[in-house]
Amino acid sequence: MKYRKLGNSGLKVSEISYGNWITHGAQLEDVLAKKCVFAALDQGINTFDTEDVYSDTRAEALLGTALKGISRESIVLSTKVCHPTGTGPNDQGLSRKHIFESCNASLRRLGTDYIDIYFAHRFDPHTPLEESFLAFSDLVRQGKILYLGVSEWTAAQIKEGARLSKRFNIPFVASQPQYSMLWRVIEGNVLPACAEAGIGQMTWSPLAQGILSGKYKAGHSLPTGSRALDETGSRFLERLAGQWMQYDALDAIQRLIPIAHECDLTLPQLAIAWILQNNQVSSVIIGASQPEQIQENARASGIVLQSSIMQRIDEILDPFIERNPECTG
Ligand code: NDP
Repeated sequence: MKYRKLGNSGLKVSEISYGNWITHGAQLEDVLAKKCVFAALDQGINTFDTEDVYSDTRAEALLGTALKGISRESIVLSTKVCHPTGTGPNDQGLSRKHIFESCNASLRRLGTDYIDIYFAHRFDPHTPLEESFLAFSDLVRQGKILYLGVSEWTAAQIKEGARLSKRFNIPFVASQPQYSMLWRVIEGNVLPACAEAGIGQMTWSPLAQGILSGKYKAGHSLPTGSRALDETGSRFLERLAGQWMQYDALDAIQRLIPIAHECDLTLPQLAIAWILQNNQVSSVIIGASQPEQIQENARASGIVLQSSIMQRIDEILDPFIERNPECTG
């Protein structure tokens, strides 16, 4: 495993992180979830991503339990705030109240004194940004969070956040956007804004939730044990990646497999290595339902792809690539 600096900070994150959305506390039973965490550690993955609301808070608690006994200094933990944790009017968003309450609850569930990277999961149009950034600044001074990140913010929102982070002296160094061979909406505006502000990318859904593994084939039944057959997973797959679950896109993805083999890679490895060719990416957050998937995917770290390979991938996927910056959020 190779490690990269997170933006302009001194923090080193593994090129591949392990995230537990949909899997821990939901699709996977607890023992298997823990096996996945151990497989990640075995592969040199030091960075783990979760969120306060994943699986109604069970994902954070499970990750905390799985990492118990692992030296805190050896891992980088990230979690997030914004999405509703309850039904009350203050149970969501980026108000000072919710940020403090969510952060304290995450610390309890994760069984740790501090969060390495705390993400504002979405932009909150109902709270003054100054209020949110003052709250983040106070959490930094209290030692409860070390670095700040945002997820799925537009370039304009990131620029405003960067301005406030200077005013409040907050190490705002991370952005967590969706990014894959198929979903490239950050390339137009978000990446230039982040480059200017010294913010690194920790990207999500590198395999478009498994579609870029090549296991979904047009005209075939859905693979056993896959996200597409999981009750919760299938809803997210349909909502965020449904446009590629159709004949032409799945057929194009199959045509990437020989290219992967030419590079001595599997298709999931090629898809993850593709993201890591971008030096603004600090880490690719993978999901996994099996330890073997982590073992396979982690091997994408350190791979260099020739420009001719990158070009052939673009030619095959071109009709299916989403590039519209308006899709951020
Ligand atoms: P991926 O695109 O990596 O999809 C992961 C899923 O693909 C696995 O759970 C597995 O599903 C399948 N898969 C993985 N590897 C293989 C393989 N080698 N062969 C076959 N199938 C494979 O990422 P996720 O969509 O899970 O997202 C990763 C992380 O990103 C999340 O856990 C979370 O931390 C973060 N995230 C952040 C968001 C945000 O808004 N900030 C939103 C979404 C995710 P299965 O076996 O069940 O088919």
